Amino acid sequence: MSVTEEIKARIDAVDIISQTVKLRRSGRTYTGLCPFHAHKNFTPSFVVWADTGTWRCFGQCNEGGDIFKFVMKRDGLDFSGALQQLAVLAGVELKPRTRDQVEQDDNLSRQRDVLQSAAVYYNHLLLNAGQAEHARQHLAGRGLGGTAVEMFELGYSLDSWDAGLKYLQSKGYTLDDLRGAGLIIEKEGGKLFDRFRDRLMIPVRDELGRMTGFQARALKPDALPKFMNSPTTALFDKGRTVFGLHLARKPMRELNEAIVVEGNLDVIAAHQAGFSNVVSSQGTALTEHQLRLIKKHAKRILLALDADEAGDKATLRGLSVAREALEREGEVGFDPHGLIKQEARLGVDIRVMTLPDGEDPDDVINRDPDEWRKRAAEAEPVVAYVMRVISRDKDLEDAKVKVEVANAVIPYIEDVSDAIERDAYRQKLARLLKVDVGVLAKRQASGVRRPEPVRRPEATTPSQPAADVRRPTSRKAEATSLETHVLGAIVREPDNLYKIDRALKDLGLGKLSNDDFAATDLQLVFDQLAGAQAQVEVEPVAYLRTHLAEPLQPVLEALTRAPVEIAGARAGKAEEALLNATLRLRRQALNVRCNEARFLLEAAREEGDAVLAERYTQEVVERTGELARVDRALAPGALNRARLGVTPGPRRV
Ligand SMILES: [Zn+2]
Repeated sequence: MSVTEEIKARIDAVDIISQTVKLRRSGRTYTGLCPFHAHKNFTPSFVVWADTGTWRCFGQCNEGGDIFKFVMKRDGLDFSGALQQLAVLAGVELKPRTRDQVEQDDNLSRQRDVLQSAAVYYNHLLLNAGQAEHARQHLAGRGLGGTAVEMFELGYSLDSWDAGLKYLQSKGYTLDDLRGAGLIIEKEGGKLFDRFRDRLMIPVRDELGRMTGFQARALKPDALPKFMNSPTTALFDKGRTVFGLHLARKPMRELNEAIVVEGNLDVIAAHQAGFSNVVSSQGTALTEHQLRLIKKHAKRILLALDADEAGDKATLRGLSVAREALEREGEVGFDPHGLIKQEARLGVDIRVMTLPDGEDPDDVINRDPDEWRKRAAEAEPVVAYVMRVISRDKDLEDAKVKVEVANAVIPYIEDVSDAIERDAYRQKLARLLKVDVGVLAKRQASGVRRPEPVRRPEATTPSQPAADVRRPTSRKAEATSLETHVLGAIVREPDNLYKIDRALKDLGLGKLSNDDFAATDLQLVFDQLAGAQAQVEVEPVAYLRTHLAEPLQPVLEALTRAPVEIAGARAGKAEEALLNATLRLRRQALNVRCNEARFLLEAAREEGDAVLAERYTQEVVERTGELARVDRALAPGALNRARLGVTPGPRRV
C-alpha cells in the first residue's frame, strides 16, 4: 500500500470534511454547502461519499476528489503540504528522500568542461600538428574546408598512447575526470591510455551546444571500427543526441523543416554548403527521443535515405522482421510502421527523401546542390513511399500480385491515424492496382492480419495484485487497483495513452482524462503525463521524475514497477486487456457521476427546484448514454472490432 493509500485507509473523509462543512447524513452520503463557492440559496450542492472517501461540488465549482484534493483546496496547499498535514493526522510517518541531484549536476558540468578542453586540444592539433597532415588531406578529399572545421570545431587525436591523457592532466584534470568523460581506457592491470588515437575528432554537442562526447573517424583504411563513439556516459548517449542540432535548430524553425541524414560528416558537408537544417541520427536507427528533439523545432521531418538501402524491397521487409540488423553500427534503420505511428503520436509530418543509388548525402550536395533541393522538395509521405517501393518492378496486371501488394501495403495504411489520410491512401492503392476501392476498404475493415480470438471481457480482466487479494476487497481498494493498473501501463509505456485515446475515440468515447481517476495523487501524475508528452527534451518517465513533487515520487516509482499482469500475453492480447481495464475504469467513474447526479436530482425534486432538477436530469441522461456506450464496448467481441492501433514489434524507429 502506498503512503497515500494508507492515509486514506486510516482517515475518514467525512471526519476531515465536517471540520469545515456542516454535513447532513442522507443514507450513505452526506450533503452540505460547498465551502469553495458563495451561495445564493441554501440548496446543498456539496456531497461526500463515505464509502469511497470522495466528495464533489455540483454547484459552481463542479469539482471533486479525495481528501487530498479537499485539503489542498481548503488550505491552499500543494500536494506535499496536504500530504504532510494528513500524514500527521493519520499517524503515518513520511520518509524524506535523499538528495544527490545537486552533486550529480556538479559532476555533469565538470564532465562538459573536460570534454570542451579536449575539443580545443584536438582542434589545435588538427590545425597545427605535422602528424595531422593525413587528417587535413582526408577533409580536403571530402571537400570540407576551414569553415566546416571552425563551425564544428573538428580535431585530430595524435597517434600516441597517452598524449591526450598527459596534456589534460597537465591542465589540472584528474584521472577520474578523464574516465568520467570517456576519454581514457583502463587496461587490465590498471594501465591507462587514450581512447582516441590517430582519428579525426568530431565533437558531439547537445541542443544548447554543450559538449557531450566525440565521434572519431578512423583515418587509416584498415583501422577498425571506422567510427568510434564516446562510451555511454552520464552525458553521452548516441540514441539521445541529434548531431548538429545546436546549429540547425534556428534554420529548422525558420523553414519548419528538418532533414535527417545518417552520418555526422554528411551534416558537416550540408552546413558548409548552406543547408543548415540538416542533422543526423549519429549512425543509429532514429529513436523516438531524437524525433522528439527535432519536433521541437520543425514539424516536417525528411529522412534522407540511401536508395539502395531503404529502397530495396528485401530490406524494407527484412527490417520489420530482423530487428537486430537495425542495431548494427552505421546502419540507419528504416521502420515504416514505427514512423507512421510516431507521426501521429508526435504530430509531425515525416517524409522520405530518396537519394540516388549508392550516393551519400555529401556526394549529392557536393555534386549538385540543386539536386539536393529538388529531392527534398519531392520527399514522399512514408505510406506513399512504401507503396511505391513495394509495387516497383511488379506485374500489377497479375491478380495474384495485386493481392500480394495489397496485403503488404494495407497494414501500413491501417497505421495511419487520420481517417481522411487513410482513405486517400486506400484510393491511391486502388488506382495503382486497378481494383475497386470498396474491396480494399472491406479488406481493411476485416483486417488483413489474423484477428485476435474473441474473449469474454471478464476473462481478460487483469488479475488483482496479490496485496489486494489478502485485504478484504472494498470498493476503495478495487477502484484503486484499476486506476493504478491503467495509469501504470501508461507510465511504463507512454505510447499506451495514445493507443487508449484512439480506441476510445473509435468507440465514440471521450479521451482518458484525470476525471477517470478518483485518487488525487494519480490525477496529479496523469496531469504531468500530459506535460511529459507535450515536451520533447526528455523521455516521459524522466520528465515525471523531475517534474513531480517529492512526495509523489514513491507513487511514480510504484507505478513504474507495478507488475505487468498482462505481460506474457501476446502483443494483441495485452492491448485488448489494457483497453478492457480502461473501459472498466471509465465505467467506474461514470457510475459514480451518474449516481451523484441521480441523488442530486432526487434532492432537487424534494426541494421543488425545477431549474436544478432539469439540470440534473440532463446530466443523468448524458451519463447514462455514455455508460451504455461503455457497456456496449465491453460486450464480448466488441473490443476486437475496435481499432487498437496495434502492430506487434518493437517501437524503435
Ligand atoms: Zn462549490
